[in-house]
Amino acid sequence: MSRPSSAGAVGGGLGAGKAGGGKHGGSGGTAAAAAAAGVSSGSSSGSGFGSGSAAPASAVSLPPAGLPGQPPELTALFECPVCFDYVLPPILQCQAGHLVCNQCRQKLSCCPTCRGPLSPSIRNLAMEKVASTLPFPCKYSSSGCLLSLHHSEKPDHEEVCEFRPYTCPCPGASCKWHGSLEAVMPHLMHAHKSITTLQGEDIVFLATDINLPGAVDWVMMQSCFSHHFMLVLEKQEKYEGHQQFFAVVLLIGTRKQAENFAYRLELNGNRRRLTWEATPRSIHDGVAAAIMNSDCLVFDTSVAHLFADNGNLGINVTISMC
Ligand SMILES: [Zn+2]
Ligand SMILES: [Zn+2]
Ligand SMILES: [Zn+2]
Ligand SMILES: [Zn+2]
Repeated sequence: MSRPSSAGAVGGGLGAGKAGGGKHGGSGGTAAAAAAAGVSSGSSSGSGFGSGSAAPASAVSLPPAGLPGQPPELTALFECPVCFDYVLPPILQCQAGHLVCNQCRQKLSCCPTCRGPLSPSIRNLAMEKVASTLPFPCKYSSSGCLLSLHHSEKPDHEEVCEFRPYTCPCPGASCKWHGSLEAVMPHLMHAHKSITTLQGEDIVFLATDINLPGAVDWVMMQSCFSHHFMLVLEKQEKYEGHQQFFAVVLLIGTRKQAENFAYRLELNGNRRRLTWEATPRSIHDGVAAAIMNSDCLVFDTSVAHLFADNGNLGINVTISMC
C-alpha cells in the first residue's frame, strides 16, 4: 500500500522510467471524498474558465483609486467596517443608517457601528445606485491586481484573478495551505513528501491498486523543461453509481505559462490504445474544475480493467513544448 518514495526521487535509477504513483489519502473513501468536495467548492465558478482570459472583456484597468477626477473617498464609503471588503448591492443598512456587507451581516446580531438592531432589514437604494456607477478595485489589489470593475463583474473576475493566492494543488488531501506561486513547490516538498517526482518529458505514471474501493487519488510529480507538473489520477463517482477515472496534468504555474505546453496521456496494452492530448491546466484552476468539466482523460472502470495489469494501471505521460 505505501510505496517507498521520497520527494525529489529521480527517475534515473529506474531504467524504464517507471515509478509508483504515490497514493494520496487512499485509505478511506470518505476522507478523500470529503476533501475532494472541499477542493471543488474552492473553485466552483466553473463557467467563465476561458483559456487564459483572466478578466471579462468589459473590465477596465484603472488604478485602485477609481476613475480620473473621481474622489477615491467615494469607494471608501462602501467599505465594510468589519471585513473592509466592499458593501455591494443589495445594500442593507441598520436602522440608524450604517452599512455592513452581506457576508458579515449574516454573522452579526447587531450593527457593528452602533450596536442597534440589524433587522428588519432596510434597503439603501440610493447607495446601490451610486455603487452601480463606480468601478471597484479587485479584492486582490493589494497583491498587485490593477483591475477595477463594475460590482456585478467583480466575483467572476476574482475567481480567475491571477493575483488570487494559490491553494495547495493536492487533491484528496484536506490541506488548507495557500500562498504565492513561488511557495507552492517548497510547500509540496515540505508537507507532501510522499509524492514521487520523476525527471523527464516522457515517463510512466503507475497507479497501483486501482481496485481500491471508494474515492481514491493517485498523485505524482514530473519535472521537465525547467517546470514541475502534477499528474493526478482520480477515481470517483461523479454520477451516482457510476465510478469513473479522471486523469489530468497540471502545471505548477500560471495559466499563461501552461499555454506553452501540451501533454499526452496514453493507456496502452492488449492491442488497445486510448490517448488524450491537451494543454496542461494551471494549478490555479485546480483538479476539481478539470473533473467537473470533464476536461481530462475520462474512462470508466471497465476500460481501466482492459489496460490494468494485476490491478496496476500504467499511464504513459508525455509533455512537450508548443
Ligand atoms: Zn464585511
Ligand atoms: Zn448602526
Ligand atoms: Zn484581480
Ligand atoms: Zn498542501
